[in-house]
Amino acid sequence: MSSLITEITAPDGYKVTLNTGLFINNEFVPGAHTIDTINPATGKVIAAVQAAEKEQVDLAVDAAYKAFYGGWKTSKPLERARLMRKLADLVKRDSEDLVHLESLDNGKPLSASRMMDTDSVIEQLQYYAGFCDKLHGKVIETEGKLSYTIHEPVGVCGGIIPWNVPMIMLAWKIAPAVCTGNTIVVKTSELTPLSALKIAALIKEAGFPPGVVNIITGYGPTAGEALSRHMKVSKIAFTGSLATGRAIMKAAAETNLKKITLELGGKSPSIIFDDVESVDEVVFWTHTGVFFNSGQSCCAGTRLYVQEGIYDEFIEKFKALTLSKKVGDPFAAETFQGPQISEGQFNRVMNYIDIGRKEGATCYLGGNRVGDEGYFIEPTIFTALTEYCICFFYLDVTENMTIMKEEIFGPVVIISKFKDIDDVIAKGNDTTYGLAAGVFTSNITRAVKVSNALEAGTIWVNTYYSNSPAEPFGGYKQSGIGRECGEYALSNYTQVKAVKINV
Ligand code: NAD
Repeated sequence: MSSLITEITAPDGYKVTLNTGLFINNEFVPGAHTIDTINPATGKVIAAVQAAEKEQVDLAVDAAYKAFYGGWKTSKPLERARLMRKLADLVKRDSEDLVHLESLDNGKPLSASRMMDTDSVIEQLQYYAGFCDKLHGKVIETEGKLSYTIHEPVGVCGGIIPWNVPMIMLAWKIAPAVCTGNTIVVKTSELTPLSALKIAALIKEAGFPPGVVNIITGYGPTAGEALSRHMKVSKIAFTGSLATGRAIMKAAAETNLKKITLELGGKSPSIIFDDVESVDEVVFWTHTGVFFNSGQSCCAGTRLYVQEGIYDEFIEKFKALTLSKKVGDPFAAETFQGPQISEGQFNRVMNYIDIGRKEGATCYLGGNRVGDEGYFIEPTIFTALTEYCICFFYLDVTENMTIMKEEIFGPVVIISKFKDIDDVIAKGNDTTYGLAAGVFTSNITRAVKVSNALEAGTIWVNTYYSNSPAEPFGGYKQSGIGRECGEYALSNYTQVKAVKINV
C-alpha cells in the first residue's frame, strides 16, 4: 500500500525509502494505529509506523501457523539454508540503509553501527544456515527394538525484542527459529522499529515463503502480551527487562505452557588484578565494556573492582580515556557515545545518578546532562569508598547502595578498590543477576580460578564484549532462562521425538 511508504533522510543526507506497515504474510499492511518513532539525538519524530493490537497479532500468528503447516515444517533443510544465506547477502548489499536507520532510531554512533550491527546480523544468519541440514537424531539401542530420535520444530515462535541492539536481536530470534523449521512472529520494540522494517522487505526479496517470518511493531502490554498469551504460539524468545520477563512467564503459565527463553538484565562485575600486563589495555576494555552503546547493554561491566596496587593509576587513566571520548551527534565521525534511547530512559538514568549521590557514593566524573536537545548524559564514574573502620569492624557500605545493586542501563560505572581475591569473588557474585563478568590478570591460574568461581553466563578474560554466533549467551540467576546463539540455542527451537520400532 503506497501510503505506508515513507522516505527517511538521515542528518548526513542519506535517504532510505521504507515501508512502515506491519509485515504479515510477506505483505506490508496497516495496523490498528500508528506509533511515532523518535530520534533520541533530537527528540523529534522520524516517522510514524503502523502498530499492532491483538487483532493484528492474531493475523500474524495465523499467517505463521499456516506457513508452518503449509510446508515450512517439512521444507528441505538446504532450501532453508539457501534462503538464509540469500538474506545475509541482501543485508550486506543494503547495509548502509540499515546502519543509517539504526543510528537514527536508536542514537548509536554511525561508526559503531557500521562496525558491528550488520556484520553481526550476517554472521548470525550464516552460522545458523550451516545448521539447517545438521539436526541429527540418535539411534538408541534397546532390548531388541530399534529406537531413534528426531528433532522436530516446535511450531509458531514469538520473538519479543528490546531497543538497545534492535537488528542484532531480530537476527538472534529469526535465525535459529527458521533454521530449525519453525515460523516466527517478531514484535520489535516500539522505540526502534525501523531497521526491522527494512529487514522485512529483504526477507520478502530473499524469497522466504509468505508467513514464515512476520514482523510487527506494537506496545508491550497490548501487542507483546497478545503474542505471549497466544494459544497457537508454541515458544516465546524474549530479550528485555526482568519485569517483562516475569510477565511473559506468567502469560505462558496461564495459557498453553509455551516454551520460553528469557534474556534479561545484568549488573556485571569486572575484576582487575594488579598483575595485569598493561593497565592501558585494561582501561580500554573496561571503558568499552561499560560506555559502549551509551551504557545500554545488558552485559555492560558496570561494577569495576580494581586491586589496590594499581587502583590510583587505573582510575586516572580511566578518567583520561573517558574525557577523551566525544559524546554527541551520532552522525559525527568522532562520536563515541550517543544519547540514551528516550526521555524515559534519560530520566531513569539521571534518577540513579541522583540516588548514588544521596546514598554517599562519590561522583568522580560526569553526572550531568549534555546539551539541551536530545537525551545525552555525561559518562559518569562513581567511586566507592570500600571500607570504613568502626570500632575494629570493617563495614562495607557501598555494596548495598542502590547503584551497586540495580541495573542502570546508562553510562554509569562504579569503581571500587579491593585487596583480597576471595573477597572480590564474593562481591562479584553478590548480585541477583549473572549475565557476564570480566577478569583481567596475567596469571592464568588466577584467571581460571576466578572464572570458575564467578556466577555468570559469559566470562571475558583480558577482553570484553567479544561475542560470536557460535558461543552460547545467556544468564545465571535472574539474568534469564536458556541460552541463545551457538548449538545450545537449537534445543530451544526443537522438540525431541523418540520412535521405537518392534523389529
Ligand atoms: P522491556 O522489557 O521494557 O521491553 C522489551 C520488549 O518487551 C519490548 O518489545 C516491549 O514492547 C515488550 N514488552 C513490554 N511489556 C510487555 C508485556 N507485558 N508483554 C510482552 N511484551 C512486553 O525492556 P527494554 O527497556 O526494551 O530493554 C531494556 C532491558 O533489556 C534491560 O533490562 C536489558 O538488560 C535487557 N536486555 C537484555 C539483553 C540480553 O541479551 N540479556 C539484551 C538487551 C537488553
